[in-house]
Amino acid sequence: MKAVFCALTGDPFCENKVCRLYNAHWQEEVIGAQFGGDYQLCPLHQGLLDGMKRGEAV
Ligand SMILES: [Zn+2]
Repeated sequence: MKAVFCALTGDPFCENKVCRLYNAHWQEEVIGAQFGGDYQLCPLHQGLLDGMKRGEAV
């Protein structure tokens, strides 16, 4: 998924530290430990992901 966001935004990482794409939080183990196994995205990337799920983006 990182490659997809990289293609969309030109940057594989995010400035929002709550976002799964935040640089220091990219590792799955860190996400699982902090968010109970459920990942989160910032509004920007969540919107991109929602668009992809609906087939509107990319
Ligand atoms: Zn983000």
